[in-house]
Amino acid sequence: MTNIAFLGLGHMGGPMAANLVKAGHRVIGFDPMPAALDAGRAAGIEISPDAVSAVADVDIVITMLPSGAHVIDAYSGVAGDPGLLASAKPGTLFIDSSTIAVDEARKAHDLALESGHRAADAPVSGGVVGAEKGTLAFMVGASDEDFQTIQPILDVMGGRIVHCGGSGLGQAAKVCNNMILGITQIAVAEAFVLGERLGLSHQALFDVASNASGQCWALTTNCPVPGPVATSPANNDYEPGFAGALMSKDLGLAESAIDLTGVDAQLGRHAREIYRAFADGDGARKDFSGIINTIRAQSADA
Ligand code: NAD
Repeated sequence: MTNIAFLGLGHMGGPMAANLVKAGHRVIGFDPMPAALDAGRAAGIEISPDAVSAVADVDIVITMLPSGAHVIDAYSGVAGDPGLLASAKPGTLFIDSSTIAVDEARKAHDLALESGHRAADAPVSGGVVGAEKGTLAFMVGASDEDFQTIQPILDVMGGRIVHCGGSGLGQAAKVCNNMILGITQIAVAEAFVLGERLGLSHQALFDVASNASGQCWALTTNCPVPGPVATSPANNDYEPGFAGALMSKDLGLAESAIDLTGVDAQLGRHAREIYRAFADGDGARKDFSGIINTIRAQSADA
């Protein structure tokens, strides 16, 4: 049994922390939202009166927060709050599983080390269903020694754990993967709308492309038209799924990484613009494959 503090008991963090409890770990949790605390208590998480008390006497601290600013503020403290790093015992291992920018992850890592702690970035993919089922994919940036320590803990919450390298490289892997995903989902949607205009049935295009060089996850799992893949969100008016707001956020992080490195990633930047507009419109809560409706609506009359 390991003593674990878990901060951020939202859509993802709540079920992740509950799985740690089920596996026999002692989990002390905190979240400013009363509803998240009630659900956490019901799942057997010991609820702390505040974040800093939660970390005072644990071996591992896991954060699952909305953004990089939340993580850095929680680590360092704001407005008289001493922060998590100053409140934990020396040598505590801090794991941040939030999706944040690579440079923010490296800053959080450095702050933890400067305070005498250990640190890892371990963002996830797999969504709320993966969090509930304990089948998340973790992408980990950590030293070899810290990876050995955290792997058994992540195994409880995940189905696939990949050590991507040192500080920030878990976030780097996540941002690169999601840039591929955003671009390919737009490409598949454009191909279906083009096929419609040319008189090609959805099923015929699917049957050809899914067995040819157009094959990809955005087609064979997240097919943006109803019919060919019964479980894709398109069959249920694009709900639930991976929300357009989250894709827009992740492509914003990709754009920050593109700016940081100077890479000529024109499609990544364009996908960022397309999903920003989608999320600003009515796509924020819809699965990101709903971008096909925007493409259809914006296509000129033939
Ligand atoms: P969420 O908004 O449901 O949960 C975040 C929680 O953090 C909230 O309950 C909030 O009250 C809490 N919080 C904020 N500041 C805090 C603090 N200082 N201390 C403790 N708790 C605090 O968001 P989510 O969907 O659970 O996502 C969490 C992270 O996981 C995000 O970075 C997101 O990008 C990433 N992510 C989400 C999904 C998904 O499908 N929802 C998938 C992969 C990754």
